[in-house]
Amino acid sequence: MEDCIFCKIASGEIGSLVYENEFVAAFDDLNPQAPVHTLIVPKKHIENIEDLHFHSEGECHHHDEEHEQHGPCDGKYIKEIFKAIKEVAKIKGVSESGYRIISNCGKDAGQTVMHLHFHLLAGKELGEKII
Ligand code: 5GP
Ligand code: ZN
Repeated sequence: MEDCIFCKIASGEIGSLVYENEFVAAFDDLNPQAPVHTLIVPKKHIENIEDLHFHSEGECHHHDEEHEQHGPCDGKYIKEIFKAIKEVAKIKGVSESGYRIISNCGKDAGQTVMHLHFHLLAGKELGEKII
């Protein structure tokens, strides 16, 4: 997706990353809502949670050659995103103190950037309410 700002950031074309591996990237939010506000995104352009496609059951049965053609399945990205969340929490020094993960999906959630992202908010007591 050449016009997607998060694709550009995740690929390293612009901005700077807090963490990355083959599948995911993490970078600080432009307009932080907490002392720590980092976004974790897949390097693949997936719009949001509704745009994720999972196998109906069991594990992936694709052959290696198929993955070479179309990349890993979405389940792989979700696993890698949650591994990255733990890595980012460690990097930011909030693994022990705690953090909140939010992903806005679609219009009523107020999603503004149509590239799947998980907000990691931390660095202060965030309160009991999520909104
Ligand atoms: P959403 O409302 O879609 O869940 O959140 C989008 C988030 O992306 C917002 O918190 C906004 O501040 C952040 N954001 C939008 N554009 C950019 C950008 O170009 N760079 C960074 N680092 N964050 C951005
Ligand atoms: Zn994108």
